[in-house]
Amino acid sequence: MEFISTRGGMEPAPYSAILLEGLATDGGLVVPETIPQISRDRIESWRGLDYPALATEILSYFATDIPGKDLATMCERAYSSENFSEGVIPLTELSDGISLLGLSEGPTLAFKDIAMQFLGQSLEYVLAKTGRTLNIIGATSGDTGSAAEYALRGKYGINVFMLSPQGRMSDFQRAQMYSLTDENIHNIAVAGVFDDCQNLVKALSGDLEFKREHSLGTVNSINLGRISAQLVYYFWAWLRASDGLDAEALETFKISVTVPSGNFGNILSGHLAREMGLPIRRLVLAANENNVLDEFFRTGIYAPRGAADTHATSSPSMDISKASNLERFVFDLLGRDPERLAAAWRELDENGKIDLSAELPRFKSEFGFQSGTSTHQDRVETIRSVHAATGVIIDPHTADGVKVAREHVEPGVPMIVLETAKPAKFPEIVFEATGERIGMPERLAGLLDLPQHVTEMSGDEQELRSYIRDNV
Ligand SMILES: *Cc1c(COP(=O)(O)O)cnc(C)c1O
Repeated sequence: MEFISTRGGMEPAPYSAILLEGLATDGGLVVPETIPQISRDRIESWRGLDYPALATEILSYFATDIPGKDLATMCERAYSSENFSEGVIPLTELSDGISLLGLSEGPTLAFKDIAMQFLGQSLEYVLAKTGRTLNIIGATSGDTGSAAEYALRGKYGINVFMLSPQGRMSDFQRAQMYSLTDENIHNIAVAGVFDDCQNLVKALSGDLEFKREHSLGTVNSINLGRISAQLVYYFWAWLRASDGLDAEALETFKISVTVPSGNFGNILSGHLAREMGLPIRRLVLAANENNVLDEFFRTGIYAPRGAADTHATSSPSMDISKASNLERFVFDLLGRDPERLAAAWRELDENGKIDLSAELPRFKSEFGFQSGTSTHQDRVETIRSVHAATGVIIDPHTADGVKVAREHVEPGVPMIVLETAKPAKFPEIVFEATGERIGMPERLAGLLDLPQHVTEMSGDEQELRSYIRDNV
């Protein structure tokens, strides 16, 4: 399997060469040259596998340049019972035809752990093979940074420089990141907001000489290693939802999946799984008040918004108004034609939007996409009603998902909502909705009292450059 750019200007490259990239050399995004086709019989033959074994099977379609037994070792380490409780990914029935896929059993209590843990294993493996080292630089407002640090801590050949806005993360997020004592993890608190951190990362990554000299890399949500690792739980969900069905029922069995979305990374993996042949009926995109993607799926017009038009909401990990990964879906929508895609993105650059409304009927009929929006009041009411009906407490992002899922449930088709975080990370809204004070999971008790390690910086680029020089 080779990987190419959506805009057609990159030499095809194998998995281990693009693992770190997402962005192709021509400014497009990296995608598989062809989408592997998996038969129902093949999927059925995986029913007895545990999660690491299923991950090995699915990733082996993409990582064709990594020997199967090495891939198996990576998946076993990534999805070990130390990293994930509850058998990695539980499927729990709620009510009214809706079930929750528990993607938040990992070390930072959010779904990003699943892909990051695999990325940590595979990066270390690829670097060891080539004798290279890598310095990951990133900006975080909380979730991505901690998932990356927990996946890369102690990994040989890798340093992490994670910039966070000083005083703007929750106590829990700060404790989670700053309490790490691994020598390869460098937490940097920047006097400023998330965008200031992001701009510093862009400035250094954009300085190609500095980037090469210090082997800088990033692990953001366009990273193809992450996208491929996220495919696995869609297959897992279908298999678990159909456990116990007889052969006849299995033949026509389909699930629908609702995905709380921000940068379109998670749901893009669902799209790929569906294109590979997994029987998914509908892929439902759930947005919060920052609903530029809901707008796209309803109108066919994609008009990213600026920072000033991005609301700070109570489902903060979805506060995104420009979804980089969408380019990969549009590539498929336009018949995987790099010229049409490049033309569309030129239009986006020139006019600030693209109009694909001519293709709108195909969004649903051919690709199964539907969408919806949820507000703060919807999240509160959804957390409350799910708790009242089932006793289960969900987090605000998952609540966006359940709210929109309820609008799209069809009789006879199980609707699976991806649980993207644990409610313990968002105690205020849980209290507002249910009156319950939710505690930390037992394995994280005491986290808030641990000593914290962080370097404070003014936001000056030279200061950051010399810190990186001194610490690689
Ligand atoms: C990152 C994140 C999302 C959004 O996922 P995308 O892949 O960016 O669409 C949703 N919920 C939570 C809790 C997240 O951390």
